[in-house]
Amino acid sequence: MSGVRMAEGVPSKQMAQVIEKTGQPVVFKEIPVQKPGPDEILVNIKYSGVCHTDLHALNGDWPLDTKLPLVGGHEGAGVVVGMGDLVDDWTLGDYAGVKWINGSCLSCSFCQQADEPLCAKALLSGYTVDGSFQQYCIAKAAHAARIPKECDLEAISPVLCAGITVYKGLKESGARPGQTVAIVGAGGGLGSLAIQYAKAMGLRVIAIDGGDEKKKMTAELGAEHFVDFMTSKNVVSDVKAATEDGLGPHAVILVAVNEKPFQQAAEYVRPRGTVIAIGLPAGAYLRAPVFESVIKMITIKGSYVGNRRDSAEAIEFFRRGLIKAPFKTVGLSELQKVYDLMHEGKIAGRYVVDTSK
Ligand code: NAD
Ligand code: ZN
Repeated sequence: MSGVRMAEGVPSKQMAQVIEKTGQPVVFKEIPVQKPGPDEILVNIKYSGVCHTDLHALNGDWPLDTKLPLVGGHEGAGVVVGMGDLVDDWTLGDYAGVKWINGSCLSCSFCQQADEPLCAKALLSGYTVDGSFQQYCIAKAAHAARIPKECDLEAISPVLCAGITVYKGLKESGARPGQTVAIVGAGGGLGSLAIQYAKAMGLRVIAIDGGDEKKKMTAELGAEHFVDFMTSKNVVSDVKAATEDGLGPHAVILVAVNEKPFQQAAEYVRPRGTVIAIGLPAGAYLRAPVFESVIKMITIKGSYVGNRRDSAEAIEFFRRGLIKAPFKTVGLSELQKVYDLMHEGKIAGRYVVDTSK
Protein backbone atom coordinates (compact mmCIF):
# COMPACT_ATOMS: atom_id res chain seq x y z
CA MET A 1 0.00 0.00 0.00
CA SER A 2 1.37 3.41 -0.92
CA GLY A 3 1.72 5.61 2.11
CA VAL A 4 1.19 8.86 0.26
CA ARG A 5 -1.42 10.89 2.12
CA MET A 6 -3.32 13.41 0.00
CA ALA A 7 -6.01 15.93 0.86
CA GLU A 8 -9.25 15.63 -1.04
CA GLY A 9 -9.64 17.55 -4.23
CA VAL A 10 -6.01 17.71 -5.36
CA PRO A 11 -6.29 17.77 -9.16
CA SER A 12 -4.07 15.85 -11.55
CA LYS A 13 -3.39 18.94 -13.67
CA GLN A 14 -2.57 22.53 -12.80
CA MET A 15 -1.42 25.84 -14.29
CA ALA A 16 2.27 26.77 -14.19
CA GLN A 17 4.75 29.21 -15.67
CA VAL A 18 7.37 27.16 -17.48
CA ILE A 19 10.81 28.11 -18.78
CA GLU A 20 11.20 25.92 -21.84
CA LYS A 21 14.34 27.58 -23.11
CA THR A 22 16.51 30.10 -21.27
CA GLY A 23 16.49 33.60 -22.69
CA GLN A 24 12.88 33.27 -23.88
CA PRO A 25 9.65 34.40 -22.24
CA VAL A 26 8.01 32.07 -19.72
CA VAL A 27 5.13 29.94 -21.02
CA PHE A 28 1.86 29.80 -19.01
CA LYS A 29 0.49 26.31 -19.48
CA GLU A 30 -1.13 23.28 -17.97
CA ILE A 31 1.20 20.63 -16.52
CA PRO A 32 0.71 17.55 -14.31
CA VAL A 33 0.64 17.78 -10.51
CA GLN A 34 3.54 15.71 -9.13
CA LYS A 35 3.16 13.14 -6.35
CA PRO A 36 5.32 13.65 -3.27
CA GLY A 37 8.15 11.14 -2.72
CA PRO A 38 8.55 9.38 0.65
CA ASP A 39 10.35 12.33 2.32
CA GLU A 40 8.44 15.10 0.56
CA ILE A 41 5.38 17.26 1.03
CA LEU A 42 3.09 18.65 -1.66
CA VAL A 43 2.25 22.31 -1.11
CA ASN A 44 -0.73 24.03 -2.71
CA ILE A 45 1.02 27.32 -3.45
CA LYS A 46 -1.28 30.28 -2.91
CA TYR A 47 1.21 33.11 -3.43
CA SER A 48 4.80 33.38 -4.54
CA GLY A 49 7.14 36.34 -4.43
CA VAL A 50 9.18 37.04 -7.56
CA CYS A 51 12.90 37.30 -6.81
CA HIS A 52 15.53 38.68 -9.14
CA THR A 53 17.11 35.21 -8.95
CA ASP A 54 14.11 33.95 -10.94
CA LEU A 55 15.05 36.42 -13.67
CA HIS A 56 18.67 35.20 -13.59
CA ALA A 57 17.27 31.65 -14.06
CA LEU A 58 15.12 32.79 -16.98
CA ASN A 59 18.06 34.55 -18.60
CA GLY A 60 20.48 31.72 -17.82
CA ASP A 61 23.12 34.30 -16.90
CA TRP A 62 24.74 32.49 -13.94
CA PRO A 63 27.59 29.95 -14.21
CA LEU A 64 25.22 27.23 -12.93
CA ASP A 65 22.81 25.40 -15.23
CA THR A 66 19.10 25.18 -14.46
CA LYS A 67 16.95 22.15 -15.09
CA LEU A 68 14.92 22.47 -18.30
CA PRO A 69 12.04 22.70 -18.74
CA LEU A 70 11.85 24.53 -15.44
CA VAL A 71 9.11 25.92 -13.21
CA GLY A 72 10.79 28.86 -11.45
CA GLY A 73 9.95 30.44 -8.11
CA HIS A 74 11.27 30.03 -4.57
CA GLU A 75 9.15 32.29 -2.39
CA GLY A 76 6.10 30.04 -2.37
CA ALA A 77 3.61 30.20 0.49
CA GLY A 78 0.77 27.73 0.70
CA VAL A 79 -1.00 24.82 2.33
CA VAL A 80 0.21 21.24 2.76
CA VAL A 81 -2.05 18.96 0.71
CA GLY A 82 0.01 15.81 0.48
CA MET A 83 2.98 13.99 1.97
CA GLY A 84 5.02 10.84 1.55
CA ASP A 85 4.99 7.91 3.94
CA LEU A 86 8.17 8.88 5.81
CA VAL A 87 6.76 12.27 6.76
CA ASP A 88 5.37 12.32 10.28
CA ASP A 89 5.89 15.91 11.40
CA TRP A 90 3.58 17.73 9.00
CA THR A 91 -0.22 17.66 8.99
CA LEU A 92 -2.50 18.18 6.01
CA GLY A 93 -3.66 21.80 6.17
CA ASP A 94 -0.47 23.18 7.72
CA TYR A 95 0.96 26.35 6.19
CA ALA A 96 4.30 25.73 4.48
CA GLY A 97 6.85 27.77 2.59
CA VAL A 98 8.86 26.62 -0.40
CA LYS A 99 12.19 28.40 -0.15
CA TRP A 100 15.39 28.42 -2.27
CA ILE A 101 16.97 25.47 -0.44
CA ASN A 102 14.38 22.84 -1.30
CA GLY A 103 16.39 19.99 0.15
CA SER A 104 19.92 18.95 1.09
CA CYS A 105 21.69 15.69 1.91
CA LEU A 106 21.59 16.34 5.69
CA SER A 107 24.72 14.24 6.18
CA CYS A 108 27.72 16.05 4.64
CA SER A 109 29.99 18.10 6.90
CA PHE A 110 28.15 21.32 5.96
CA CYS A 111 24.71 19.89 6.64
CA GLN A 112 25.96 18.46 9.93
CA GLN A 113 26.81 21.94 11.13
CA ALA A 114 23.63 23.54 9.74
CA ASP A 115 25.37 25.11 6.75
CA GLU A 116 22.97 23.34 4.45
CA PRO A 117 23.08 26.07 1.76
CA LEU A 118 26.68 24.92 1.22
CA CYS A 119 25.70 21.27 0.69
CA ALA A 120 27.02 20.13 -2.70
CA LYS A 121 23.81 18.16 -3.21
CA ALA A 122 21.41 20.97 -2.23
CA LEU A 123 18.27 21.07 -4.36
CA LEU A 124 17.37 24.63 -5.41
CA SER A 125 13.70 25.48 -5.82
CA GLY A 126 12.93 27.04 -9.17
CA TYR A 127 16.43 26.29 -10.41
CA THR A 128 17.53 22.64 -10.13
CA VAL A 129 14.05 21.41 -9.12
CA ASP A 130 10.65 22.87 -10.04
CA GLY A 131 9.60 25.76 -7.85
CA SER A 132 6.63 27.83 -6.78
CA PHE A 133 5.31 29.35 -10.02
CA GLN A 134 2.79 26.53 -10.15
CA GLN A 135 -0.25 25.67 -8.06
CA TYR A 136 1.18 22.51 -6.49
CA CYS A 137 4.86 22.28 -5.60
CA ILE A 138 7.02 19.57 -4.02
CA ALA A 139 9.43 20.31 -1.16
CA LYS A 140 11.52 18.10 1.11
CA ALA A 141 9.66 17.83 4.39
CA ALA A 142 12.84 18.49 6.39
CA HIS A 143 13.48 21.80 4.64
CA ALA A 144 10.10 23.37 3.91
CA ALA A 145 9.53 26.44 6.06
CA ARG A 146 6.92 26.25 8.79
CA ILE A 147 4.55 29.20 8.58
CA PRO A 148 2.36 29.91 11.61
CA LYS A 149 -1.37 29.86 10.86
CA GLU A 150 -1.83 33.47 11.94
CA CYS A 151 0.43 34.70 9.11
CA ASP A 152 -0.94 36.11 5.89
CA LEU A 153 0.37 33.90 3.06
CA GLU A 154 0.46 36.75 0.54
CA ALA A 155 2.48 39.14 2.71
CA ILE A 156 4.85 36.50 4.04
CA SER A 157 5.83 35.02 0.67
CA PRO A 158 8.71 37.51 0.02
CA VAL A 159 10.16 36.62 3.42
CA LEU A 160 10.85 33.08 2.16
CA CYS A 161 13.84 34.21 0.12
CA ALA A 162 14.30 37.97 0.39
CA GLY A 163 13.59 38.09 4.14
CA ILE A 164 15.64 35.05 5.12
CA THR A 165 18.55 36.16 2.95
CA VAL A 166 18.84 39.71 4.24
CA TYR A 167 18.26 38.67 7.84
CA LYS A 168 21.13 36.18 7.50
CA GLY A 169 23.30 38.82 5.80
CA LEU A 170 22.66 41.30 8.61
CA LYS A 171 23.64 38.65 11.17
CA GLU A 172 26.78 37.81 9.18
CA SER A 173 27.72 41.51 9.16
CA GLY A 174 28.09 41.53 12.93
CA ALA A 175 26.53 45.02 13.07
CA ARG A 176 25.30 45.79 16.57
CA PRO A 177 22.25 47.78 17.71
CA GLY A 178 22.81 51.50 17.27
CA GLN A 179 25.33 51.02 14.48
CA THR A 180 24.76 52.05 10.89
CA VAL A 181 24.32 49.80 7.89
CA ALA A 182 24.30 50.91 4.25
CA ILE A 183 21.89 48.89 2.12
CA VAL A 184 22.84 49.02 -1.54
CA GLY A 185 19.84 48.24 -3.75
CA ALA A 186 17.57 49.28 -0.87
CA GLY A 187 14.59 49.98 -3.13
CA GLY A 188 14.39 46.44 -4.52
CA GLY A 189 12.88 43.28 -3.10
CA LEU A 190 15.75 42.22 -0.86
CA GLY A 191 16.61 45.83 -0.05
CA SER A 192 13.14 46.82 1.15
CA LEU A 193 13.05 43.83 3.50
CA ALA A 194 16.62 44.51 4.60
CA ILE A 195 15.56 47.97 5.81
CA GLN A 196 12.80 46.41 7.89
CA TYR A 197 14.99 43.69 9.40
CA ALA A 198 17.80 46.16 10.08
CA LYS A 199 15.39 48.45 11.92
CA ALA A 200 13.92 45.56 13.89
CA MET A 201 17.47 44.61 14.88
CA GLY A 202 18.15 48.12 16.21
CA LEU A 203 20.33 49.29 13.33
CA ARG A 204 20.33 52.65 11.56
CA VAL A 205 19.99 52.59 7.78
CA ILE A 206 21.47 54.47 4.84
CA ALA A 207 19.58 53.45 1.70
CA ILE A 208 21.33 53.50 -1.67
CA ASP A 209 19.31 53.12 -4.86
CA GLY A 210 18.03 55.26 -7.72
CA GLY A 211 14.98 57.45 -8.33
CA ASP A 212 12.36 59.31 -6.32
CA GLU A 213 9.93 56.41 -5.93
CA LYS A 214 12.58 54.32 -4.20
CA LYS A 215 13.73 57.32 -2.17
CA LYS A 216 10.21 57.83 -0.84
CA MET A 217 9.62 54.14 -0.18
CA THR A 218 12.92 53.61 1.66
CA ALA A 219 12.20 56.65 3.85
CA GLU A 220 8.76 55.26 4.70
CA LEU A 221 10.36 51.94 5.61
CA GLY A 222 12.66 53.71 8.05
CA ALA A 223 15.90 54.58 6.26
CA GLU A 224 17.42 57.79 7.67
CA HIS A 225 19.32 58.76 4.51
CA PHE A 226 19.07 58.10 0.80
CA VAL A 227 21.97 58.24 -1.63
CA ASP A 228 20.84 58.20 -5.26
CA PHE A 229 23.43 56.28 -7.27
CA MET A 230 22.00 57.68 -10.48
CA THR A 231 22.43 61.34 -9.60
CA SER A 232 25.13 61.40 -6.91
CA LYS A 233 28.40 62.92 -8.12
CA ASN A 234 30.33 60.85 -5.62
CA VAL A 235 28.60 57.91 -3.97
CA VAL A 236 31.58 57.16 -1.73
CA SER A 237 31.72 60.61 -0.14
CA ASP A 238 27.91 60.89 0.03
CA VAL A 239 27.62 57.62 1.94
CA LYS A 240 30.37 58.62 4.36
CA ALA A 241 28.76 62.01 4.83
CA ALA A 242 25.50 60.31 5.80
CA THR A 243 27.13 58.97 8.98
CA GLU A 244 27.41 61.31 11.95
CA ASP A 245 31.20 61.25 12.25
CA GLY A 246 31.79 60.98 8.50
CA LEU A 247 33.69 57.70 8.90
CA GLY A 248 31.21 55.56 7.02
CA PRO A 249 28.74 52.78 7.91
CA HIS A 250 29.73 49.85 10.12
CA ALA A 251 28.41 47.40 7.56
CA VAL A 252 27.37 47.39 3.91
CA ILE A 253 24.74 45.00 2.61
CA LEU A 254 25.11 44.65 -1.17
CA VAL A 255 21.83 43.56 -2.76
CA ALA A 256 22.13 45.47 -6.03
CA VAL A 257 22.18 43.68 -9.36
CA ASN A 258 25.05 45.74 -10.73
CA GLU A 259 28.82 45.35 -10.49
CA LYS A 260 29.73 48.96 -9.70
CA PRO A 261 28.66 49.04 -6.04
CA PHE A 262 30.55 45.79 -5.43
CA GLN A 263 33.65 47.70 -6.41
CA GLN A 264 32.83 50.77 -4.31
CA ALA A 265 31.70 49.46 -0.95
CA ALA A 266 35.18 48.83 0.44
CA GLU A 267 35.91 52.51 -0.08
CA TYR A 268 33.13 53.85 2.13
CA VAL A 269 32.78 51.14 4.77
CA ARG A 270 34.04 52.23 8.16
CA PRO A 271 37.42 51.04 9.49
CA ARG A 272 36.91 47.58 11.06
CA GLY A 273 33.63 47.42 9.09
CA THR A 274 32.18 44.56 7.08
CA VAL A 275 30.98 44.37 3.49
CA ILE A 276 28.41 41.65 2.85
CA ALA A 277 27.93 40.58 -0.77
CA ILE A 278 24.48 39.11 -1.42
CA GLY A 279 23.41 40.33 -4.88
CA LEU A 280 24.59 38.19 -7.77
CA PRO A 281 25.08 40.39 -10.85
CA ALA A 282 26.11 38.18 -13.77
CA GLY A 283 29.84 37.98 -14.41
CA ALA A 284 30.68 40.55 -11.74
CA TYR A 285 33.78 40.82 -9.58
CA LEU A 286 34.33 42.27 -6.15
CA ARG A 287 37.13 44.79 -5.94
CA ALA A 288 38.84 46.50 -3.03
CA PRO A 289 42.00 48.57 -2.73
CA VAL A 290 44.56 46.44 -0.88
CA PHE A 291 46.17 49.37 0.95
CA GLU A 292 42.93 50.74 2.42
CA SER A 293 41.50 47.28 3.10
CA VAL A 294 44.57 46.44 5.18
CA ILE A 295 44.98 49.64 7.13
CA LYS A 296 41.20 49.91 7.70
CA MET A 297 41.04 46.21 8.70
CA ILE A 298 37.87 45.67 6.70
CA THR A 299 36.10 42.35 6.18
CA ILE A 300 34.46 41.31 2.90
CA LYS A 301 32.13 38.31 3.04
CA GLY A 302 29.65 36.49 0.84
CA SER A 303 26.28 35.54 2.34
CA TYR A 304 23.99 32.95 0.80
CA VAL A 305 20.32 32.58 1.83
CA GLY A 306 20.04 31.05 5.32
CA ASN A 307 19.75 27.71 7.06
CA ARG A 308 16.57 26.29 8.56
CA ARG A 309 17.10 28.10 11.84
CA ASP A 310 17.69 31.47 10.12
CA SER A 311 14.52 30.81 8.15
CA ALA A 312 12.48 30.15 11.27
CA GLU A 313 13.88 33.27 12.95
CA ALA A 314 13.16 35.46 9.91
CA ILE A 315 9.58 34.15 9.85
CA GLU A 316 9.23 34.86 13.57
CA PHE A 317 10.14 38.53 13.01
CA PHE A 318 7.33 38.63 10.45
CA ARG A 319 4.87 36.87 12.75
CA ARG A 320 5.59 39.44 15.44
CA GLY A 321 4.52 42.20 13.04
CA LEU A 322 7.98 43.73 12.67
CA ILE A 323 8.30 43.20 8.91
CA LYS A 324 5.89 45.15 6.72
CA ALA A 325 7.50 45.60 3.34
CA PRO A 326 5.50 46.79 0.37
CA PHE A 327 4.44 44.36 -2.35
CA LYS A 328 2.13 44.37 -5.34
CA THR A 329 0.16 41.30 -6.35
CA VAL A 330 -0.67 40.16 -9.89
CA GLY A 331 -1.91 36.85 -11.31
CA LEU A 332 0.55 34.03 -12.01
CA SER A 333 -0.43 34.41 -15.67
CA GLU A 334 1.21 37.87 -15.66
CA LEU A 335 4.64 36.73 -14.50
CA GLN A 336 6.43 37.78 -17.69
CA LYS A 337 5.28 41.39 -17.12
CA VAL A 338 6.93 41.29 -13.70
CA TYR A 339 10.17 40.07 -15.28
CA ASP A 340 10.03 42.89 -17.82
CA LEU A 341 9.61 45.52 -15.10
CA MET A 342 12.37 43.91 -13.04
CA HIS A 343 14.72 43.90 -16.00
CA GLU A 344 14.13 47.64 -16.37
CA GLY A 345 14.82 48.19 -12.64
CA LYS A 346 11.31 49.64 -12.24
CA ILE A 347 10.12 47.61 -9.27
CA ALA A 348 10.06 49.33 -5.88
CA GLY A 349 9.72 46.54 -3.30
CA ARG A 350 8.46 43.11 -4.35
CA TYR A 351 5.91 41.62 -6.75
CA VAL A 352 3.91 38.63 -5.58
CA VAL A 353 1.97 36.32 -7.91
CA ASP A 354 -1.42 34.85 -7.00
CA THR A 355 -1.49 31.28 -8.37
CA SER A 356 -5.31 31.26 -8.64
CA LYS A 357 -5.23 33.87 -11.42
P1 NAD B 1 15.59 43.74 -7.33
O1 NAD B 1 15.67 43.87 -8.80
O2 NAD B 1 14.28 43.74 -6.67
O3 NAD B 1 16.46 44.88 -6.63
C1 NAD B 1 17.73 45.28 -7.06
C2 NAD B 1 17.85 46.76 -6.75
O4 NAD B 1 19.20 47.17 -7.00
C3 NAD B 1 16.97 47.66 -7.62
O5 NAD B 1 16.13 48.45 -6.78
C4 NAD B 1 17.96 48.49 -8.39
O6 NAD B 1 17.48 49.80 -8.66
C5 NAD B 1 19.16 48.52 -7.45
N1 NAD B 1 20.42 48.90 -8.07
C6 NAD B 1 20.88 48.63 -9.31
N2 NAD B 1 22.09 49.19 -9.49
C7 NAD B 1 22.42 49.83 -8.34
C8 NAD B 1 23.53 50.60 -7.91
N3 NAD B 1 24.56 50.82 -8.71
N4 NAD B 1 23.50 51.09 -6.66
C9 NAD B 1 22.46 50.87 -5.83
N5 NAD B 1 21.37 50.16 -6.20
C10 NAD B 1 21.35 49.64 -7.43
O7 NAD B 1 16.38 42.37 -6.99
P2 NAD B 1 16.25 41.43 -5.69
O8 NAD B 1 15.17 40.45 -5.92
O9 NAD B 1 16.25 42.27 -4.48
O10 NAD B 1 17.62 40.60 -5.80
C11 NAD B 1 18.86 41.26 -5.69
C12 NAD B 1 20.02 40.32 -6.01
O11 NAD B 1 20.20 39.41 -4.92
C13 NAD B 1 19.84 39.45 -7.25
O12 NAD B 1 21.08 39.35 -7.95
C14 NAD B 1 19.47 38.11 -6.67
O13 NAD B 1 19.78 37.03 -7.53
C15 NAD B 1 20.34 38.11 -5.45
N6 NAD B 1 19.95 37.16 -4.39
C16 NAD B 1 20.96 36.59 -3.67
C17 NAD B 1 20.64 35.74 -2.63
C18 NAD B 1 21.72 35.13 -1.81
O14 NAD B 1 21.46 34.18 -1.09
N7 NAD B 1 22.95 35.66 -1.83
C19 NAD B 1 19.30 35.47 -2.34
C20 NAD B 1 18.32 36.08 -3.07
C21 NAD B 1 18.64 36.95 -4.09
ZN1 ZN C 1 15.44 34.67 -4.16
